[in-house]
Amino acid sequence: MPDPRGFMKFPRKDNPMRPIMQRIKDFDAMELNLSDEQRRQQAERCMNCGTPFCHHGVFFGGKKAVSGCPNDNLIPEWNDMVYQDRDYQAFQRLTKTNYLPDMTGRVCPAPCEAACVQALNGPGITIRNNEKFIIEKAFANGWVADSGKPLKRTGKKIAIVGSGPAGISAAWRLNQLGHSVTIYERDDNFGGFLMYGIPNMKLPKDIVKRRIDTLREVGINLVANTEVGKDISAEELRQKYDRVIIATGARQARELNVPGRDLKGIYQATDYLREATKEVLKNGTQATKKLNGKHVLVLGGGDTGNDCIGTIIRQGCAGITQLEINPALPETRAEDNQWPEWPMVLKTGYGQTEAKTLFGPITTYAATATKIYGKDGHVAAAEISQVKNHKPIPGTGKKANVDMVILAMGFTGHEQWLFDSFGITKLNKNYTTNDNQIFVAGDCRRGPSLVIWGIYEGRMCAEKVDASLQVLK
Ligand SMILES: Cc1cc2nc3c(=O)[nH]c(=O)nc-3n(C[C@H](O)[C@H](O)[C@H](O)COP(=O)(O)OP(=O)(O)OC[C@H]3O[C@@H](n4cnc5c(N)ncnc54)[C@H](O)[C@@H]3O)c2cc1C
Ligand code: SF4
Repeated sequence: MPDPRGFMKFPRKDNPMRPIMQRIKDFDAMELNLSDEQRRQQAERCMNCGTPFCHHGVFFGGKKAVSGCPNDNLIPEWNDMVYQDRDYQAFQRLTKTNYLPDMTGRVCPAPCEAACVQALNGPGITIRNNEKFIIEKAFANGWVADSGKPLKRTGKKIAIVGSGPAGISAAWRLNQLGHSVTIYERDDNFGGFLMYGIPNMKLPKDIVKRRIDTLREVGINLVANTEVGKDISAEELRQKYDRVIIATGARQARELNVPGRDLKGIYQATDYLREATKEVLKNGTQATKKLNGKHVLVLGGGDTGNDCIGTIIRQGCAGITQLEINPALPETRAEDNQWPEWPMVLKTGYGQTEAKTLFGPITTYAATATKIYGKDGHVAAAEISQVKNHKPIPGTGKKANVDMVILAMGFTGHEQWLFDSFGITKLNKNYTTNDNQIFVAGDCRRGPSLVIWGIYEGRMCAEKVDASLQVLK
């Protein structure tokens, strides 16, 4: 175990972020890295605490947010190995559970760090940053593809519908176990929200593509531009494959049902972010002037809204107003929200921080848009009202000029039609369904969540599929 006094020798040091006024000029990665020596000191801070709350995800006290790693990552073990300069062993321990640390090492909100024993009385360990360090060492040394190759092929064929974290994680494990896996993706690029959701500055697309290349290298077959249920039928997949996993995400976006919703210039956040990433892939990472002179209204104060704000800024907007329907969280933990629970406190995302630097505070809490006004069929203004229990308070509406509206109000669940075409009527807790040939994993099963939940679901589902194939033998 790492030096039990390491945390007394070295203060927590996060990976630095590029200065705001520099980074908003492009869509390149915002986060930089520490030196190897500094990283090993950070790993040394892991303190042999006896009961590592960090490595097991628990919903303490019935709270909605998980505390600890949802994927049961063996955190103290690989921290120790980083401290000891044993990077290959660290990689092996990390990827025993986490098949995509190149993604979580960049985007995970790290519920593990909030549950770290050190977070009881100070800052926790830099677990997410340590994870990124390990996987980058592994890619640099060529260890990743070798770890995904099977010893022998079983002759069993599996189709996976959807190439997000859940689909990729399931594919990786099933391929390791020797099954022949094909992933079908309706988009032109693979990765789900890793590709066309999370923006490039947070998760560079060359990192996603590097992973996709590795999937091919280990023998996974990937088919793009193919929507299962339309371009290839559910029945055809049934005929061709021994098992099918549906991992299509929670893609039903919440709608804004107010007068003026049909005006031009109102976009769902995921459509907007998708197009923004497509432009980056096509034209490069320089900031643009696409929204020059435009004031944008963003509905939704969560991570997606924050990603939209970061993107709008890099497209040269003139101003942003953000509305969050919930009241602001407190600055510090409430009495009934103590460690190791996830802290339900006010957080300022990177996009909000950038916007604050440029325009001052942009976020109004307990508010929503109750009407959109148009001019020549295009958005021109919005009525903004205060809300109580998510209901507009009559008489509070105020008109504000806006040129564009982005709806980042969350997701209500999966697209039902695909489940219907497979005849799925029941989703069981253990990834099985009413049909023993069809399995389900990821956000389409558990609802909108996190990349690491997708990885966990894909991994657990793969084990279930494998077990069902063993029975067949
Ligand atoms: C803007 C945004 C930012 C986010 N930021 C973070 C973050 O910073 N950290 C974090 O942990 N989580 C974040 N999330 C959440 C995270 O991305 C998701 O929880 C995760 O991607 C879910 O994985 P999944 O594999 O279940 O589904 P998805 O990633 O949604 O992938 C599903 C895939 O299935 C494909 N598909 C759907 N139907 C079909 C069909 N019929 N045929 C073929 N393919 C189909 C889709 O095109 C898609 O590629 C963010 C989400 C969004 C929208
Ligand atoms: S995946 Fe997320 S929660 Fe799990 S160890 Fe990594 S940073 Fe922590």
